[in-house]
Amino acid sequence: MKARGFALDEDALKRSNRVEFVGKSRTDPSIELRVSLADSFPSKAPHVHTTTTVQLKRHQRLDTREICTFGPTRGRWSAGLSSTAAIDEAENVITDVSGIQSSDPKYLDDVPEPASALYYYQNNAFVLVSPAIAAFAAAMSEGSSAQLKLRFENWPGETVSRAGPGRGIVTEIGLKSPAKAESWHDKLVRPSLEIKAKIFRLGAPPPFTTNISDFNAWLQRLGHERTDWMAFVFPEQSGNATTQRLAWLFVRSKHRIEHIRTFVMDGGGHSTRVPGLCSLLERRIVFIGCGSLGSKIAASLAATGVKHFGLVDFDFLEPDNAVRHESGVNLFGFPKVLALQNRLFELNPQVLDNTKMLQMVIGGTNDMAREKELQELLAQASLIVDTTGDHGVSRFLNDICAELNVAQMYASVSNGAWGGEVVRVIPPRTACWMCWFAQYESSRPSAEPSPDVGLFAPGCDQPTFTGTSYDLDVVAGLASSFVVDTLLIEDSSREHYKGDYIRWQLRNSEGQFLPVIEILPIHKRKPCPFCNPN
Ligand SMILES: [Zn+2]
Repeated sequence: MKARGFALDEDALKRSNRVEFVGKSRTDPSIELRVSLADSFPSKAPHVHTTTTVQLKRHQRLDTREICTFGPTRGRWSAGLSSTAAIDEAENVITDVSGIQSSDPKYLDDVPEPASALYYYQNNAFVLVSPAIAAFAAAMSEGSSAQLKLRFENWPGETVSRAGPGRGIVTEIGLKSPAKAESWHDKLVRPSLEIKAKIFRLGAPPPFTTNISDFNAWLQRLGHERTDWMAFVFPEQSGNATTQRLAWLFVRSKHRIEHIRTFVMDGGGHSTRVPGLCSLLERRIVFIGCGSLGSKIAASLAATGVKHFGLVDFDFLEPDNAVRHESGVNLFGFPKVLALQNRLFELNPQVLDNTKMLQMVIGGTNDMAREKELQELLAQASLIVDTTGDHGVSRFLNDICAELNVAQMYASVSNGAWGGEVVRVIPPRTACWMCWFAQYESSRPSAEPSPDVGLFAPGCDQPTFTGTSYDLDVVAGLASSFVVDTLLIEDSSREHYKGDYIRWQLRNSEGQFLPVIEILPIHKRKPCPFCNPN
């Protein structure tokens, strides 16, 4: 350390028994650096702070001025960071963010540094911002402010209080022509406290301080007065150092400043977590059959971001359905379409405003109006998923979808979930369901061991025999990824089909647990009224 020009701070050692070294940055000698060793050094890395008033724009906690010795590029991190190595890392950060340009690729800075991550969140209050509200705030000009309404619900068992723990959702923003949150917000947070607040659009993050006089002083400089609930919107880094997004922060105050974690549902989180699937957001997927398998496929698609659904089923949810169904016992007695919509809403609230439900039997004796509604629903579909396992229904869908030019997916499990199947039909590119049936009728997954097996006792030693939730999950997972794959292939018009039939078998013919997945081609028959009409 001496060789680097750093000296031990004797005072700090005497005063608080801390080992700290003080020196100057070689890059910018106006910056004083302080290296402190944690009590548990060397198992914990040393910390480097700047002590001068110079604040680096990035890679420094603006409140404590600690420089991130993780390094601007991820590859430079080392578990055994020595004091001198920590200084080197700090020097690199200073070089990188102090305006000194470097062509050295090690200074290629791609680590996002969201300012909203630096606040001292109390973790006893949370606020959700829906897309309509976020869009309004995004259109506000820098320096402007607006009225805002918040619905706040205290946690169960807590006293009702604006200052107490709980969660809220912004219900309205703006005064003259306000934007309201989507209708689903009513179901997310129970009607409780209605709070009025003001929102400010800023060019930089609010101060990180929790000290009320410092906060007041900052507000006064902006020409504002503090109220007990305030919201701030400001730009911050996201994705990489050169891209920005708008962050939200709620501040609640009475005797101290409380930073409240604010979640914005503007799709940004979706595209970060599942990049490449954004084109699914506007597609409509119609489910014929909302039983166990249909509910599982629909649930995984809703979680992936799909919000437009069509749900068709005649049945009602029974309490025991919860063994396999996505909807729980609490929804017993609901029509299955409604129970499933409830579950999809939990996973993706936007489902509520974008789902059409039809409680009816396909191919049953329906009135003309009902049949017309079904026809319209099918015509709007990007893809239809049939999980009824009913050949009459599959045949009907095969006919109508050939006419409408809509892709279909047929998913089923055999009795006891010994095996399962997913069949994909994309008219006119692939073979139709009838062609699949003709080709594979005799080689479908079995539902029981072969008759040659002398003794096979289903029961306690065969816990998967009856086919419970996780057995269905396998077929549901295969079907869901096949659905997504099909919709994305349509987007890019790529031809890469190895097969359109997925066959899954959990057990072999002796009844032994031996899972096998195959993907098989389906041939167009000659003649076939759909595939080869001549
Ligand atoms: Zn055919």
